[in-house]
Amino acid sequence: MNSESEIAELLLLLKETREQLAYFKELGVESMECESPLTWPAETISRQAQPPSAESSRHQSSGLSIAAVTTVSKADAKGAAPPMPPMPSETLFGDLSSLPVRIQKSSETFEEIWADIGDCTRCPLHQERTNIVHTHGNHKARLMFVGEAPGADEDAQARPFVGRAGQLLTKIIEAIGLKREEVLIGNVNRCRPPGNRAPTPEEASMCKPFLLREIAVVQPEVIVVLGNTAMRNLLDIKQGITRVRGQFQDYHGVKVMPTFHPAYLLRDPSKKKETWEDLKKVRDYLDTKRQPDS
Ligand code: URA
Repeated sequence: MNSESEIAELLLLLKETREQLAYFKELGVESMECESPLTWPAETISRQAQPPSAESSRHQSSGLSIAAVTTVSKADAKGAAPPMPPMPSETLFGDLSSLPVRIQKSSETFEEIWADIGDCTRCPLHQERTNIVHTHGNHKARLMFVGEAPGADEDAQARPFVGRAGQLLTKIIEAIGLKREEVLIGNVNRCRPPGNRAPTPEEASMCKPFLLREIAVVQPEVIVVLGNTAMRNLLDIKQGITRVRGQFQDYHGVKVMPTFHPAYLLRDPSKKKETWEDLKKVRDYLDTKRQPDS
């Protein structure tokens, strides 16, 4: 790489960093800090060209902390700046997206998070919404369900999953021995997309940090992610739901079970069998983790 292209790449990184900081500010994030100093992980260094997300930040004022779990040694953590690793050949900064991060308990309230959301106009979905549909349910839930975005009924009532798909979701919840009031239910996007189209990855990346903050407050033991769009937008997975469903995934230290969206089950009831298999795994996992006296 010659010096001109290095300078161009540095300028691009600077621009992206500025945009990301402006975005965090808009979310109400006032400062950031790493749990431990980041080293330059030799195998994983490449430039991160992701849309802005709160995933590598710490929301200090509200207590949200997503701590970077690094391979830094104690000596590195205490001592001077670690030596720079050899530059990888393909890109200047390597792939930081593979850096594992873990959600830590946040002490902020949903009301504080929703106040930051405000009368949101961050993405085009605000233009046709009637209501912002916030996450609803038990703030001490062990289990959370995440869909893609509100439909017409949810937009009208400002509640997630209250239409036909929501009624089926209630039955699914009851099938594993829980009541709807015991779980937490939300969507990656909080505004109804026109014509019920799927939210774009950009629209999802605008809304997702708020969901992440709610997850940090509640700390559910399992998140069930409903359908392809929600799964891809939440987990950054490229594979489809048919391949990934039924297999626990990790979302910053939280177990995630992808399964079919209830609206899809309404269209193809033969898929309920697979969903039931997935939900039984969730129920069994929660049962094995339950304390004897709870
Ligand atoms: N579909 C979703 O993904 N979310 C809702 O809230 C309702 C339907």
